[in-house]
Amino acid sequence: MHELAVTESLVDAVSERLPGQRVTCVRLEIGALSGVVADSVRFCFDLVTEGTSLEGARLEIAQPPAQCHCRICGADFGPAGPIVICPCGSAEVTVLAGQDLRILSVQVA
Ligand SMILES: [Zn+2]
Repeated sequence: MHELAVTESLVDAVSERLPGQRVTCVRLEIGALSGVVADSVRFCFDLVTEGTSLEGARLEIAQPPAQCHCRICGADFGPAGPIVICPCGSAEVTVLAGQDLRILSVQVA
């Protein structure tokens, strides 16, 4: 499962940067086009954090919508799903926003 590996690397990154500190809240940004399913990360988070300094931490996930720019007709649009096609039918599209997967902030006790 892709999200399990992603969640593990996020949890590792947090615990490495905050050694010995009790983490109470993690805020993530998971863009609509990041390829990662937020609900799956939520599900994996409890499993992965068990026995770590993040155990019991609250997980907040911001999911910014995708924003794309069509290189053919010049329109900016928000794609409806993970497959990015302009309303004009073109797939010559630049993704402006929504591809990020990152840690926004971490709260410690
Ligand atoms: Zn277009």
